[in-house]
Amino acid sequence: MTLDGIGESCGVIGVWAPDLPIGHLIYSGLIALQHRGQESAGIAVADGTDIALHRGMGLVQQVFGAADLATMRGQAGIGHVRYSTSGESTIDNAQPCPGVTASGEPFALAHNGNITRVGSPCGGGDRADTFVLVRELGRYRGRVEAAMLRALPQVEGAYSLAVVDGGTLYAVRDPHGFRPLCLGRLSGRGWVVASESAALDVIGASFVRDVAPGELVAMDHNGMRSTTFALASSAACSFEHVYFSRPDSLAGSRRMQSIRRDFGVALAEECPAEADVVIPVPDSARHAALGYAQASGIPYDEGLARNNYVGRTFIQPDQAARSIAVRLKLNPVPEVVRGRSVVVVDDSMVRATTATQVVTMLRAAGAVRVHLRIASPPVRWPCFYGVDMKTGTELIAEGDTSVAQIAAAVGADSVGYLSVEAMRDAIGDTSSCTACFTGHYPVSLGIPAIGRRSDHSVLAGN
Ligand code: SF4
Ligand code: MG
Repeated sequence: MTLDGIGESCGVIGVWAPDLPIGHLIYSGLIALQHRGQESAGIAVADGTDIALHRGMGLVQQVFGAADLATMRGQAGIGHVRYSTSGESTIDNAQPCPGVTASGEPFALAHNGNITRVGSPCGGGDRADTFVLVRELGRYRGRVEAAMLRALPQVEGAYSLAVVDGGTLYAVRDPHGFRPLCLGRLSGRGWVVASESAALDVIGASFVRDVAPGELVAMDHNGMRSTTFALASSAACSFEHVYFSRPDSLAGSRRMQSIRRDFGVALAEECPAEADVVIPVPDSARHAALGYAQASGIPYDEGLARNNYVGRTFIQPDQAARSIAVRLKLNPVPEVVRGRSVVVVDDSMVRATTATQVVTMLRAAGAVRVHLRIASPPVRWPCFYGVDMKTGTELIAEGDTSVAQIAAAVGADSVGYLSVEAMRDAIGDTSSCTACFTGHYPVSLGIPAIGRRSDHSVLAGN
């Protein structure tokens, strides 16, 4: 968990459970999704007539107190944690977003993704795209469900939505299913939708299935019903497997941590190293490092201690502050690395702030060789599907930069990356989006001149 320079995919949750304390369930689910965004948090609860909205800046536990949760009673509700892009960090950007249909029915919407077009282009990124969608839904009369079924086929972009109106919870995934969204059951007492299955576990719901690309699921007193609103062509984000998702979340029927271990096994086969010890950059690279150690026969150890009370480094606004944040977060353990040749495994490398600092730290702690192994392919392209990947020129592996050049830049004896093919094999889904690694964008999303990557600074990630 030290990926620098990458914007987070936000987290959404929705619960329909008239007999249960809705506010507390959503609050707990949001804490389980806190890693997906730390800038702001919000909950909207519908009691059949009104929708009460509470949003604030900061972590979930900073935004909501016991008194807030006690007032959140109702049948259904949704929640959101937001990652800050380089855009404004204000309460105005916090979600859920409230709306009202043309016939006066209130609703609230929580969005994870990057909507680029709702009839006409909406700029993409930040709150603007969520707003445009809410406003578009407000043009229709009648139920929110009907409005969505009419509006969504005109919407272009990456979106996973949790929506609530008077008495119904909705879950929506765009026709490519870029951003994750899964469905769970509260043993006969209700329904849950969440960005990751770990949030279902926390509130006692069992995983049912992923919401399908192009599907709208509605949950209320009439049960659960599903509508396909667009022809689907799945392109789920492979970066979820690399980094975003919690290790204990499911990817279909498999656990993320087992996929990450397979990344490490394949990495050891593709990029071997002569070394005395394999260590992870904690926490996100731990499973990949275990796989690397297992496949290579090189002993595994923990050579970097992590301070879990420091926010993620990419939250820091500039490069100097990010470097300090890395030092605050990671501290080498000299006894593990002194006099040794070390393989250090990280999950990914975007700007290489962390990698450079880690290599420097390990050498200072006495490592004689430092071989950096990355359990994903080089990130060479920006993301237009809800992740702030930065511009091409900010990426360490921009263009056709060689691994030797990258090793020199970060000060490592060698650098090795997992191949795209091996990553796809381990994920087991050949349709996954790999655009930030390959430049093969599943859909242009109406963004002009997609090839001029260094001109783009795409804000994303509501
Ligand atoms: Fe995920 Fe990368 Fe595709 Fe964006 S471009 S959706 S981060 S795989
Ligand atoms: Mg990392």
